[in-house]
Amino acid sequence: MISVQGKGVSGGVAIGPLYCYQRAKSTIRRYEVEDVDAEWDRFKAAQTKAIEQLGELAEKAREEAGDEAALLFETHQMMAEDMEYEEAIQTAIRDKKLNAEAAVTDTAAQFAARFAAMEDAYFQARAADVKDVSDRIISALTGVVRGGIDSPVPVILAADDLSPSETVQLDKSRILGFVTEGGSDSGHTAILARTMGIPAIIGVGDQLKPEYEGREVIIDGSTGNVVIDADEDARSCLLRKMEEQKKMRELLEQLKGQPNETKDGQSIRVYCNIGSPDDVPAVLANDAGGVGLFRSEFLYLNCDDYPTEDYQFEAYKKALSDMGAKEVVIRTLDIGADKQIGYFDLPKEENPAMGNRALRICLNRPEIFHTQLRALFRASAFGKLGIMFPMVTSVWEVKEARKMCERVKEELTKEGIPFSDHVEIGIMIETPAAVLMSDRLAKEVDFFSCGTNDLTQYMLACDRQNADLGRFYNPHHPAVLRALKMVCDNAHRNGIWVGICGELGADLSLTETFLAIGIDELSVSPHSVLPLRQKIRETTISEVKQKILEDLLSDENTI
Ligand code: PEP
Ligand code: MG
Repeated sequence: MISVQGKGVSGGVAIGPLYCYQRAKSTIRRYEVEDVDAEWDRFKAAQTKAIEQLGELAEKAREEAGDEAALLFETHQMMAEDMEYEEAIQTAIRDKKLNAEAAVTDTAAQFAARFAAMEDAYFQARAADVKDVSDRIISALTGVVRGGIDSPVPVILAADDLSPSETVQLDKSRILGFVTEGGSDSGHTAILARTMGIPAIIGVGDQLKPEYEGREVIIDGSTGNVVIDADEDARSCLLRKMEEQKKMRELLEQLKGQPNETKDGQSIRVYCNIGSPDDVPAVLANDAGGVGLFRSEFLYLNCDDYPTEDYQFEAYKKALSDMGAKEVVIRTLDIGADKQIGYFDLPKEENPAMGNRALRICLNRPEIFHTQLRALFRASAFGKLGIMFPMVTSVWEVKEARKMCERVKEELTKEGIPFSDHVEIGIMIETPAAVLMSDRLAKEVDFFSCGTNDLTQYMLACDRQNADLGRFYNPHHPAVLRALKMVCDNAHRNGIWVGICGELGADLSLTETFLAIGIDELSVSPHSVLPLRQKIRETTISEVKQKILEDLLSDENTI
């Protein structure tokens, strides 16, 4: 039995075979081949496999998001069998005697450079497509799965860390749990695991060896313990815990349909954070009151090129109509920093977390923002929509973003396209500037939603991605909690509501504090809804409120 300790970031016990996540190799082997016919046959077999995969992806995309989504994969299929592309590969194999991987790599570089040099932005964007298609063929040649899970049974996935774009591509139905070498509590692997309600452990370092792959592993997401080939005692103890958790879940089920109300009658809304319309069933199954944060950038991360207005419209419309009368707050694009997207072609930055990200990109590249806002307002006719802007620091940014909303509404009116007149417009409070300006910002919007993941990062000048900073990244820091109180007071003074959509919202040790300072809404992962409801219903807030508020401002509270 081997026991490894990490940090649990999503509770629960899971058991299954360990699977090491394989990233497509960036170095391609290059050698001279003797049998060029055999090499050509290798290429043709890989090409056929890639075309088949693309066909399957097109079908999946069609089912999930309609014809337009499927078109991208169909275009890739055509590229993979384009005659000119194929001839160039053939020449490299037959004349230069290059191995197929190197022939595909060189041809891809040649075609991508040709596209990139074109005047028309549409053709320039095809450079990324040709690289993507070629990577797929290379994966078929090398057998290295493109960020996938090549296992017939569900697995415990081990990885160094996963980027947001890698996480969106994973087949979630095959994952029982996550274990990562690095990562952080508010990183995207942890967030994804909590959304999916599966156990996750981060920060195990190099303790998980590649030779453990395939062996039975039990992970306990509440203690951060990973056990490989557990002995009988450990095994039965962990399985018992798994059983208890199942029972606990059943007990929580009884809370469905009950109000999120304290014993002395104070209510708070409990909403969910989601990354795609596919998460809506989990929101409804857990009886949440709405969606407080739909991270729209995951739509962009899932595409190989800018998602079109129609593609986005379909996704937003689906989330809104599936949620019925319940509110859905969709956050406009929040990329940059840890969420990089190749086709945005953003220049490399020294300090990406403080760089060109989120609303800044939208204001600097209004054509991207315009497309998203059109899709959002069109979708507003199908449900109860809220729109919020991330990474705000100044009042002028909000005014400019709102002006863009007005322009879109005027356009839609002229075009006779219906939209709702009751879309709430809000902002995320996740920078110290937004906290200190919250009295002024409150006059510009309908609501605030506090992004405590970034707010902690910026208040404490502490990188949320850096696992080594563990004890310094402390969302319980009085500076963060006082900031929340200040935001709450300024919101209420101006008659608007305020929520928390960072991971802190689900921290049950702070539920009383949030009730005491008067937070109106907590937006959490679907599986946190019922435990949070239970905590709220057990609380008599009037008994503790005064003390909590005094402690928050007390001289002793310095940490
Ligand atoms: C946050 O910063 O708290 C937040 C909710 O947004 P994200 O984690 O996507 O940056
Ligand atoms: Mg954020």
